Amino acid sequence: MATIFTKIINGEIPCHKIAENDSHIAFLDINPIAEGHTLVVPKKEIDYVFDLPDELLGETMLFSKKVAAGLDKALNPIRTGVIVEGLEVPHAHIHLVPIYKESQEVSLKRKVDVSEDRMSELATLISKAVEI
Ligand code: 5GP
Repeated sequence: MATIFTKIINGEIPCHKIAENDSHIAFLDINPIAEGHTLVVPKKEIDYVFDLPDELLGETMLFSKKVAAGLDKALNPIRTGVIVEGLEVPHAHIHLVPIYKESQEVSLKRKVDVSEDRMSELATLISKAVEI
């Protein structure tokens, strides 16, 4: 069965898209741990990130680097952190988490409330700042 991320990639489920190319997509996490929390997902459906072929893993990190540059430019965090866990969705993905001066705790257990309007605003801001 297709993963939830494959359904997003195929446009069957909506998302706040940040960037996309032939092999990857980035969109806002639906349950963010910080404003701008973004997921980078290779379109090829492979569960465990360290099962990605070397070349694809490299491309995933380079795509993440470009998205992180956009997050840094658009939101001005101290920096953007990276988490790879994959315990909830069996489709490899990188969490990019902007770390702000006022809240520097980075944990997937820490959720923040971000309104739907703010999610849309963030997606517009960040996507404009990302150069793929
Ligand atoms: P992990 O698998 O690394 O533990 O986390 C999966 C992440 O995917 C979670 O942070 C969760 O909020 C996010 N997520 C799960 N379902 C959806 C969805 O339908 N849309 C979006 N945008 N994010 C999702």
